[in-house]
Amino acid sequence: MDIIINSLYSNKDIFLRELISNASDALDKIRFLSLTDKEILGEGDNAKLDIQIKLDKEKKILSIRDRGIGMTKEDLIKNLGTIAKSGTSAFVEKMQTSGDLNLIGQFGVGFYSVYLVADYVEVISKHNDDKQYVWESKADGAFAISEDVWNEPLGRGTEIRLHLREEAGEYLEEAKLKELVKRYSEFINFPIYLWASKEVDVEVPADEDESSDEEETSDSSSSEEEVEDEDAEKKPKSKTVKETTYEWELLNDVKAIWLRNPKEVTEEEYTKFYQSLAKDFSEEKPLSWSHFTAEGDVEFKAVLFVPPKAPHDLYESYYNTKKSNLKLYVRRVFISDEFDELLPKYLNFLKGLVDSDTLPLNVSREMLQQHSSLKTIKKKLIRKALDMIRKIAEEDPDESNDKDKKDVEKSSDDDEKKGQYAKFWNEFGKSIKLGIIEDASNRNRLAKLLRFESTKSGGKLASLDQYISRMKPGQKDIFYITGSSKEQLEKSPFLERLTKKNYEVIFFTDPVDEYLMQYLMDYEDKKFQNVSKEGLKLGKDSKYKDLKESFKDLTKWWKSALASENVDDVKISVLLSDTPCVVVTSKYGWSANMERIMQSQTL
Ligand code: ADP
Ligand code: MG
Repeated sequence: MDIIINSLYSNKDIFLRELISNASDALDKIRFLSLTDKEILGEGDNAKLDIQIKLDKEKKILSIRDRGIGMTKEDLIKNLGTIAKSGTSAFVEKMQTSGDLNLIGQFGVGFYSVYLVADYVEVISKHNDDKQYVWESKADGAFAISEDVWNEPLGRGTEIRLHLREEAGEYLEEAKLKELVKRYSEFINFPIYLWASKEVDVEVPADEDESSDEEETSDSSSSEEEVEDEDAEKKPKSKTVKETTYEWELLNDVKAIWLRNPKEVTEEEYTKFYQSLAKDFSEEKPLSWSHFTAEGDVEFKAVLFVPPKAPHDLYESYYNTKKSNLKLYVRRVFISDEFDELLPKYLNFLKGLVDSDTLPLNVSREMLQQHSSLKTIKKKLIRKALDMIRKIAEEDPDESNDKDKKDVEKSSDDDEKKGQYAKFWNEFGKSIKLGIIEDASNRNRLAKLLRFESTKSGGKLASLDQYISRMKPGQKDIFYITGSSKEQLEKSPFLERLTKKNYEVIFFTDPVDEYLMQYLMDYEDKKFQNVSKEGLKLGKDSKYKDLKESFKDLTKWWKSALASENVDDVKISVLLSDTPCVVVTSKYGWSANMERIMQSQTL
């Protein structure tokens, strides 16, 4: 709270989109429940699923009200009163390093942004299962909750009253609020209204005398029309005056971007849609997106995004969370954003939305989770996702081999796409590797997306396809070596002979690579060979047989001298050039690097 209150953060505007996003979430929840229980919405105004913004200039109060699910007393304590929420510490940490409050919504503490503009906040809430309560806090570390006996009954939902700070007066201007809603909340799926003033022309009767005159003239015959008109101008029957009235003005047109034709949606619209979907309002554009309609047995529309940055906790608890970031809609009704069945875990970094016409609307979440169509949806989503990622590489001028690009005219897009894949790889490369490990049916597609440095990549990233295109005639295997850093590996004696003979060797330096290579056996009919393991062959070497023969006694002696426990075998090798001997891992054993990883339990 201190961080927020004392923040000199200039973009205080963000509080509004956080409140609107919360209101929208609350409306989604009640709408979902109403699918299986129609009574739940109630009648009249209560059933209207909208968001209302009101200003009180005199009292300096800005209020935002929704007819969403509301909060019980317990909810108020749990959701608004507990600072020790899981996202808090992560958020505080992030704030201390980046100072960018803009990301607050991603940490599950967006509500507290109200204190950027208000010094006192009241939350009035009514949940169907409880009485109406008021939560209030001055952000001094304390809050109070009491049964609401003062305000009008809400029926259902939540009203947030912000008592604005002196310097936050601009949020009492209608124009400012309209602009903010336009800018930040364009893709909210519920109508947002502002109680807006309007200057209207009102006809009021003119002076008595004149009007009676008028009446007389109007009684005259039609033949005197012209005269009559002149007369009327001079002596009007009534006059117009300006008067201020108030009415609910709709600020957004509730449009589902995913239902539109992709050709008609602009890049800017996709970016904004991504921001509101992912609560990612950083300046960066998503790295890529894919908007498509699936037809056939299972029909659905989807928009997928590759975010510009990995979320702070993407791999933190990879193996025990099941968090997917896709929102599932059925016929435009939001169902859930916790559907693990839509994407495999390794694609959790994608953001997006799926709207299906095939899934049933009036069943429980649990039933839906079992629905047979989900398998088909998942399969198609994976394909599309991998295509989308492949496209980032294809469009990146840094990626293609120079010879392919020579004739192609440099497009203006090029600069923008340059380096995008390296960026992707930096943020999400590990996910691709986890995919290779976990998803056997897409292993080859995923392997195409793999990038690494090698003895020939010149400090850049290379792909397996590039590796293959550079293979020496007669080379059958793809060579790699694993270790903790490229610098360490470059000095490895295992490379001596290979580099001398101009073979390319891939450096795998991420702990996950050891696991990866247990699953990635081959690519395009080429086998992978760890050069630090037994069994490496570099074509025929005529000297080998003779050497083996002449050193037979020495190898035998070494074998007995080193004794059995630690060493399986001692052999003559033609793979070294400067180093006299190396310790090699047996073909099916753990590499030295793997031993190191297991000892430190890095993964
Ligand atoms: P997040 O929205 O990411 O969960 P917030 O800090 O914005 O984090 O909100 C915290 C919680 O407070 C929400 O998860 C929700 O349970 C509750 N909440 C906030 N605003 C509303 C509202 N208008 N109606 C119902 N619940 C709300
Ligand atoms: Mg929120």
